Amino acid sequence: MIYAFLIDILVLLIWSSQYQWWRRTISYQHPRILMYHMVSQHRPGAKFNKLRVPPEQFERQIAYLAENGWTFAHMSELAKPLPEKTVVLTFDDGYRDNLIHATPVLERYKAKATLYLVVDRFERDWSTAKKAHHDSGELMQEPKLSDDEVKGMLASQVWELGAHTLTHANLPVTAEPKRTQEISGGREALQQSFDQDVPSFAYPFGIYNAEDVRLTEQAGFDFAVTTQEGIDPLPYAKPLELKRIKISGKEGLWSFKLRLRTGRRK
Ligand SMILES: [Zn+2]
Repeated sequence: MIYAFLIDILVLLIWSSQYQWWRRTISYQHPRILMYHMVSQHRPGAKFNKLRVPPEQFERQIAYLAENGWTFAHMSELAKPLPEKTVVLTFDDGYRDNLIHATPVLERYKAKATLYLVVDRFERDWSTAKKAHHDSGELMQEPKLSDDEVKGMLASQVWELGAHTLTHANLPVTAEPKRTQEISGGREALQQSFDQDVPSFAYPFGIYNAEDVRLTEQAGFDFAVTTQEGIDPLPYAKPLELKRIKISGKEGLWSFKLRLRTGRRK
């Protein structure tokens, strides 16, 4: 009897260890930067469903943040003092569902988010720029935001604009002068199209090297985000290499809360 109970406990411990619940909480003085891509239902058999957070799951996450004392901020606000428990939501690439599914939820909970928009985002399969065999066309076929849709989103004050290069380039393997064009030119193109400042940048695929960091600084960005998992402590030692918390479309609220607390899952 007692053995059966102990075995249950052991099984529970082993099962729950995947969530690394013993990790220490990172002080809430340090803002959390969350990384999203799409807010949409999963597609049966699709390769990139991790990047698709179902709308009802997204709403549960934002409701949780709003109801538990979190303050929403844009990336540019990281330059000023912020209250404890600040969260910055970021969305990469410019998928149309950010308008259809994410914006109504953000408005409902008075939340805000930063959009890392690829300038030339139509008919482009950027997954092949990372791995040549990624040629399913899945992300290419995913509807993208039009410039007019982005203008509407920015006018609502819910969204802030961030840069994500001209073509979602794999920067370290991009030769000059194209590399500078992707970073600086991408910023200028957005500033011109949307008539506003573009204070921050996201490295495509999270792939970058020291030269890219230099070019990002030279382009005038105050902050740049990576896909490295974690929470950077304030004051930022490397504001152009900030970590983010990846929000997966395949995880529940428990995992979301854990990542918010510790910055990562593994
Ligand atoms: Zn991207």
